[in-house]
Amino acid sequence: MGSDAKYPARQGEASSHSGGGKMCEFCLKHSEGKKWYLQAENYSEDLLSDLRRRKFIEGFFANTDDLARDAERLEKLDKAPGFIKALMRRIITRKMKKNHFGQVVPMEEIEQIFGFVNSIVRVACVCRHVTLGEERRYCYGISMGPDGGKMSEILRSLDSSFLGGPDAEGLEAVSKDEAISAFRDHERDGLCHTVWTFQTPFIGGICNCDRADCLAMRTTVTHDIPIMFRAEYVAEVDPDKCVGCRQCMRVCQFGAITYSASKEKAVIDQRRCYGCGICRSVCKQDAIRLEERRGVPVAADLW
Ligand code: SF4
Ligand code: SF4
Repeated sequence: MGSDAKYPARQGEASSHSGGGKMCEFCLKHSEGKKWYLQAENYSEDLLSDLRRRKFIEGFFANTDDLARDAERLEKLDKAPGFIKALMRRIITRKMKKNHFGQVVPMEEIEQIFGFVNSIVRVACVCRHVTLGEERRYCYGISMGPDGGKMSEILRSLDSSFLGGPDAEGLEAVSKDEAISAFRDHERDGLCHTVWTFQTPFIGGICNCDRADCLAMRTTVTHDIPIMFRAEYVAEVDPDKCVGCRQCMRVCQFGAITYSASKEKAVIDQRRCYGCGICRSVCKQDAIRLEERRGVPVAADLW
């Protein structure tokens, strides 16, 4: 893949209000308007010297029963009166922004992240452990340190069977090329890439999510309680190239693509688009490209 005509490379400064658009709140707060997840300081080993952050990480991976209970509470919250749901939505989102918040990131920028971190380990996904009761190795710990860095030290110290028990491979070191190849496979399977903080702004992991089994996507999209940002991009179909095969509709996790019977073309509702780029990866006609969100007026303020 890499930079190509479908995907405008962008390293520039954010303009918080230029052109009717802006970057996400974390870009403005945590990297002076540059993309926060492309800044090496947000992956720094120094941030893992903070004892509160270490405790948070230990609790996150050791107490997966808490996540299962949270998932049940969200199901109940859906039936609550609107004002209670609105209040809880604000409280949960605010708390998660401090502790464990994500953002959708397209493949080219995942490759950029893999380019500057020093080690990558593949681990079993906590969400699938909770929702499926199975080990699915869709999550990747990334570190500026060698051998998985301090994050892996913390994980190795935990007594958590799904992370390193007798039936699991535990923390599996992978090279950058292996990681990129695996992410391309995940993308072909329709999984969307997301970066995650462990007490913001420290980024400790990249996951591969789908709405059926990923608690974060369920919380954000199904329950409408945002715990991850959309990507800095939105997708657009080139009608001159689209042949109406509808393959892109099959993989969109966000219900953003419809089919125009009269035009025999796919149409993307950019207000729903999360900018993951998964539709683009299955389009054999090269008809889908990602545009900068801030340059698309209907989507520029939607995160
Ligand atoms: S996959 Fe490509 S060609 Fe097929 S409907 Fe979608 S945009 Fe059109
Ligand atoms: S339309 Fe948007 S949200 Fe749906 S797959 Fe494409 S990029 Fe992702």
